[in-house]
Amino acid sequence: MMWRSAALSGLVALVLVSLCDVVATAQCNEPDCSKAKFNYDQSSCLGPASWPDITPCWSTCSGSRQSPVNIRRNDATSRTSLGVFSFNIGPQQPFQVSTTIDGFKTNSKVSTTDHVVLSDVTQFGLSGNSFRLDGFHFHAGKFNNAKGSEHSFDGEFQPMELHMVFYNTKYPDISAAIQQSDGLLVIGVLAQVFDRARPSPFPGCVHTFQRTLSRVLMDSLKDKNPKSGKSCEETVDSTLTLQDLLPADRESYYTYEGSLTTPPCSETVTWIVMKCPIVVTKSVLRRFKRLEISKNGERLGVHGSRRPVQRGKNHTPFVLLKNF
Ligand SMILES: [Zn+2]
Repeated sequence: MMWRSAALSGLVALVLVSLCDVVATAQCNEPDCSKAKFNYDQSSCLGPASWPDITPCWSTCSGSRQSPVNIRRNDATSRTSLGVFSFNIGPQQPFQVSTTIDGFKTNSKVSTTDHVVLSDVTQFGLSGNSFRLDGFHFHAGKFNNAKGSEHSFDGEFQPMELHMVFYNTKYPDISAAIQQSDGLLVIGVLAQVFDRARPSPFPGCVHTFQRTLSRVLMDSLKDKNPKSGKSCEETVDSTLTLQDLLPADRESYYTYEGSLTTPPCSETVTWIVMKCPIVVTKSVLRRFKRLEISKNGERLGVHGSRRPVQRGKNHTPFVLLKNF
């Protein structure tokens, strides 16, 4: 298994634009899919359990191959036939992203001029397909709750989870790919919070502290909470590479067929969940949870931004492979 390198040069900038597009109060039932809203409040009619019923085009959220899942490490099947899994741009090569701060929808998008492509993806009939990085985002839990990742390993969660969203290069863009069975590939990386004293629950993994990612996130999230009636658009330049997003072991992963973990919950995702975690600072987690998600000042950490485990919990069988 290889993550290959190729050359790319150029100036790197993390362009940060806060659009202050706060989450509005919305209807429990919205016939117009484009106007539908959701949240992570378990007691709300917009919460995760209700997502399939909010609007007709989100009915997939109650489908049979939903994500996230609990990964039972001992149950994963080792398949050498997974084949080569590779990048054509090396981790030392920078790329440009623009981050939109928008509560739990905060997303960093790779600019269209820079392409990070995974090639030689072979599992689940994907031989010959390549996937381009569209962007990445994080999920986190409630205040004072260490449970923040969406995927769990043997029932154990981590404070955050990073999702790198790729789309099949045979489609023009992510919105076209999202509707195709071979359209999406998401790399999930569990994120621990830096704590030297705490033993790692990941046997055989190097404790990889993502210093650059932590710094970039701190710069991005610093004092960027949307305030009603106040412009908060701002640009922050920074450097980011794949090395900043992935653990030291970039070759060991679990893979299964799943879905997006947010509406419309499209069941078109090949999941790659890295065996090893990354580590970010405690300050990053704190800042992220303090992001405002509504005009009345509600913060992300009140309800968190993680969807509960969808399968595994009720023992719905699914194919879980590992390449190590
Ligand atoms: Zn996600």
